[in-house]
Amino acid sequence: MALTLAGMKAIAFDIKSPDEKLVVNVDKSKSGRITYMVTLDGDTIIKKSPLGFNSNLGAYDRTESIIAHDIKSIDETYKLDRIKKSEINFKANEAVLDFITPDGRKWGVTFIVSDNDIAFRYNVEKYKGTGSIYIDSENTGFCFPKGTTTFLSPQSDPMIGWKRTKPSYEEEYLADAPMDTPSKYGHGYTFPCLFKIGDKGWALVSETDVDSYYCASHLSDYKLGGMYTIDYPMPGENNGNGNAGAAMALPGKTPWRTITVGRDLAPIVETTIPWDVVEPRYESEHDYKYGRGTWSWILWQDDSINLDDLKKYVDLAKAMGYEYVLVDNWWDNNIGRDRLPELVEYARERGVDVFMWYSSSGYWNDIEQGPINYMDNPIVRKREMRWLRDLGVKGIKVDFFGGDKQETMRLYEAILSDADDNGLMVIFHGCTLPRGWERMYPNYVGSEAVLASENIYFDQHFCDEEAFNATLHPFIRNTVGCMEFGGCFMNKRMSRGNDKGNRRVTSDVFELATTILFQNPIQNFALAPNNLKDAPEVCMDFLRDVPTTWDETRFIAGYPGKYVVLARRHADKWYIAGVNATAAPIEVQLTQGTKGQTIIVYSDNENGEPVRNEVVIGKKAPKLKMNPRGGFVVVLDAADI
Ligand code: CA
Repeated sequence: MALTLAGMKAIAFDIKSPDEKLVVNVDKSKSGRITYMVTLDGDTIIKKSPLGFNSNLGAYDRTESIIAHDIKSIDETYKLDRIKKSEINFKANEAVLDFITPDGRKWGVTFIVSDNDIAFRYNVEKYKGTGSIYIDSENTGFCFPKGTTTFLSPQSDPMIGWKRTKPSYEEEYLADAPMDTPSKYGHGYTFPCLFKIGDKGWALVSETDVDSYYCASHLSDYKLGGMYTIDYPMPGENNGNGNAGAAMALPGKTPWRTITVGRDLAPIVETTIPWDVVEPRYESEHDYKYGRGTWSWILWQDDSINLDDLKKYVDLAKAMGYEYVLVDNWWDNNIGRDRLPELVEYARERGVDVFMWYSSSGYWNDIEQGPINYMDNPIVRKREMRWLRDLGVKGIKVDFFGGDKQETMRLYEAILSDADDNGLMVIFHGCTLPRGWERMYPNYVGSEAVLASENIYFDQHFCDEEAFNATLHPFIRNTVGCMEFGGCFMNKRMSRGNDKGNRRVTSDVFELATTILFQNPIQNFALAPNNLKDAPEVCMDFLRDVPTTWDETRFIAGYPGKYVVLARRHADKWYIAGVNATAAPIEVQLTQGTKGQTIIVYSDNENGEPVRNEVVIGKKAPKLKMNPRGGFVVVLDAADI
């Protein structure tokens, strides 16, 4: 950190990580344009890239001078009970850089740099008494070196798909694609975006701290020279309602944009930057409890939304020792509001609590599945939530949002805030990526924002791609936010009865491994009542005990799109899980555990059937083989591994 430059005019300015290896260099061109670049131990990760934005007060992209101030070290410890880690120590260096446009408008950028993460945001001052601004676009760029390859999910067209509900972060990834590969829809890519910088390392670009005061953004298509820029929502999102830019009061700050950088994938998997730089938006007086749930809709679909079937799923939850049952769409019609208390009471008598589904709509899509039009209006929403609270319902799942505009971000925040007033947890589906929300909103418990388990039910293609996708999420989607995937099928066939429909091609132990690899504090598993009789007992026993909250997460091995092995700790138990998406077996040499220690190993036998073995560690920990579309889980008692 160049402390001597504090409060002084400088031509260029370096912000270095505490270990001084990760360096952000901010500079200005002869014409005053502001740029930044990123190096790791001298290797270029991001080439000289533009900063700045355009607004109804004019362009903010130049300066006469760079003035650095408020340079400080951050050393903060905080607790968070629903992400990959429970106690986080965040060490970083921070610097605020002030700029001034040629016509005298003051702005700037704050950079926070830890050993593997960069967060930056713009600051805008009042200008001649103007107390508000409308920002319509950004120059903010991420220019990667030649040879960089990409692991990206495209932004979809607006108002396409089921009942015109897209975009909803439900698009397929391309892995290791050259930068100049055209995006599927021509609208760039949704966060987070993973880049492999040749043999120099990895960079994950994302965004956090987005609330009702801003829109959510994404990356543009590739531009000449290796450049991607920040793009705002498309005007057509939300059925054209609401601005595509962002309005804020002055002085104001934009959300943080983040770049996680590593020589290997450990910093990508283990990053906590989405939560390190945000603050809780409100305190809750409620004590929220996480856990596992059963979910009738995933295999029995709309037909299961009736009292008889849902009672069977309550019974399944009780038999598994699960905390929740999720009641999906059409309950208002097919059960009825007057008979809902009977279901909630039936569940409560069996020690199971209830989540209820709602559509977010609204005037922005064609959804007919009820209940509709309860979440968009504050008067109706508050009345409904009080009713849910009085019934003893513990949470809601709100589906089918209108995109990434600021107007929709306001809706997310309003739902969360009103729900907390009534002790309700909130899961979002058909939705945007959460951006720091686990720390910002005490009752937020997860988002879909992924091609989730429903696609495995719907389409054989997604059964065939299940392993490929599972090896991407721990490195990309799930590393920056809770992911409500709704997975772990024990059915071999995607139907009630387990005798027809699409065919699961992964092994049973693969499915168990995903319960560890995929992280969400409440996991609604894709089990069905028949699995109590037709699924291997060894799997059902594992699923009775599997935790959903974690104290620590470590990257062990893997490559996105090929295989992944992670370790997660819950209290004093480590769960090491791996899955293989390649066509050949992969052997993993365990190094965890101590000599003489007994560990439990779940693996596929030669017929692909699940086996549980107690293994005593000898001179060396065992080698574990992962079959194609197979996996393993190791459970061991240890404070550390
Ligand atoms: Ca969905």
